[in-house]
Amino acid sequence: MQAKRKVYNSVVINKDFHEILKIVTKFRDERDWAQFHDPKNLAEALSIETSELLENFLWKDKKQVAKALGDKNYVKDISFELADIIMYTLLIAETIGVDLKQAVKQKNRINEKKYPVAKSKGNSTKYTKL
Ligand SMILES: [Mg+2]
Repeated sequence: MQAKRKVYNSVVINKDFHEILKIVTKFRDERDWAQFHDPKNLAEALSIETSELLENFLWKDKKQVAKALGDKNYVKDISFELADIIMYTLLIAETIGVDLKQAVKQKNRINEKKYPVAKSKGNSTKYTKL
């Protein structure tokens, strides 16, 4: 029997990142920070932000995380780290000219081949060991 997946919050994902990119590039350009936003610096910043996201879960087990997710401030802290991650991801894509929608589609097709449903449904084994 398949375990029921718990949904902690309703999530709205904008289909088009264009509006977010406009907000982020306006912020960047008003400060003349594009000069600092080379791909290496942006990738380093993205890595740091993902670590900041992880910090919210550090040393907590699943029960502790589930309990903490009942605290609006905890969820807000996580949402801000997710925002940082999205912003840096979009800035990297914009800087090097990546069409993220196409990249996601292509990568998902690759993942579908790596993880065929028949072999990977309900199984977290890495594709190299399937
Ligand atoms: Mg942050």
